[in-house]
Order: sequence, then structure tokens, then C-alpha cells
Amino acid sequence: MGDSYLTSKISQCQKEIRLNQSAKSIWMTGLSGAGKTTLGLALEKELFRRNFFIQLLDGDDVRLGLNKDLAYSEEDRTENIRRIAEVNALFNHSGIITINCFISPTNAIRQLARTIIGSDKFIEVFVKAPLSLCEKRDVKGFYFKARQGLIKEFTGIDSPFEEPEHPDLILDTDTCTVAETLSQIMYFILPKVQYYPTI
Ligand code: ADP
Repeated sequence: MGDSYLTSKISQCQKEIRLNQSAKSIWMTGLSGAGKTTLGLALEKELFRRNFFIQLLDGDDVRLGLNKDLAYSEEDRTENIRRIAEVNALFNHSGIITINCFISPTNAIRQLARTIIGSDKFIEVFVKAPLSLCEKRDVKGFYFKARQGLIKEFTGIDSPFEEPEHPDLILDTDTCTVAETLSQIMYFILPKVQYYPTI
């Protein structure tokens, strides 16, 4: 969705000035259990504390509502991300910063999101942890079920995860604590979401 689609006569820039921030889509990608939701929630809280206006978008929530008709085939995963990216474009047009927590397993799917959202607003964050650790954490018990064959097409088990080729930021949740990765992402994100007048 480009600006050309929108009927609104109030520009994104006017809304960003009102909110005193620069709208960006922070896109966290990584295996299930890598730490996307944990970091997304921590980042949301920290940005909100600093008076930013944010919308968190999380895989589980979206699949309960907007995308509840979709499954996990390659086609449905692509449609899942396409819709989420369009939602991002709308939030950004309202001047709102989004934090996205989606496995988004392939380069093609992330490229689709980048194209819809716009390269200037899309910040790709690779939340990185080895599969063995994610499986050991097994936060939701999904890996256990996938190994038993009770869940099909589970990323990392019987569906691929392609590591991002050129992420803007890599957060290594294997070797760093939540507090450490939070400060790394805050350091990187803050200058990008602060509003700087151009005159
Ligand atoms: P995802 O959303 O990627 O599926 P979750 O955030 O639900 O992953 O789970 C990640 C798990 O890893 C949590 O139990 C969290 O406490 C733990 N963890 C350990 N270190 C980190 C870190 N540096 N960042 C994020 N999560 C971490």
C-alpha cells in the first residue's frame, strides 16, 4: 500500500509531527522460542515509557483474529505476512511505530513485507538462537509436538528457516540476557524513531 492508495488528506508526516516520532516497522524474525515476543514486549514497554506510541503485532494474536482462516502451507504463510505488512503500512501511515514478532521464515516472505512496508521504514531484526536451544526452551511445547508428528510444517523441524542475509541488527539470545539484548535494540532503534525536524 503506497500513499497513492489512500484517500486521507492528512499526510503521514503531519501525523508523525503530532506524535513527535518517526514511524518505523521493527520486524523481528527468528525461530519459535528464539525470543521475539519476550523482546517485543520489553521493547514496547521501554519505548512507551519514553513517550513513544507503539503497536505490538504478534504471530499468535494475529492468527486468532485477522488471519484465523490461514494455516501453515507456504501459500498461507505468505498471505499471513502480506496482510500483516499491509496492516503495518496503515499503522505507519498513522505515524505509529510497530513492533512485529513473526517467525517469517524465508527471505522471500521478509522481502515481501519490506516491499509493502517500504525499505525506508522496515527495520529487520534477526532474533538469533540455535534450533537446539529453542527446542530445549520449548516455551509453548510446540517442538515436542512437532517431533511427535502432532504438528506438521513446524519451522525448524519439517519446514525451513532461512537466516536473514543482511539484517539491520542481530540479537543473540543464546549468549545475551534479555536485559542485554533489550539495551542493544534500544541503542539501535532510538535514533531511528526519534522525530527530527528537517528545517
Ligand atoms: P518467540 O516469541 O521467538 O517464539 P519467546 O519470547 O516466546 O520466543 O520465548 C523465548 C524464551 O527465551 C523465553 O522463555 C525467554 O525468557 C528466553 N530468553 C532467554 N534469553 C533471552 C533473550 N536474550 N532475549 C529473549 N528471550 C530470551
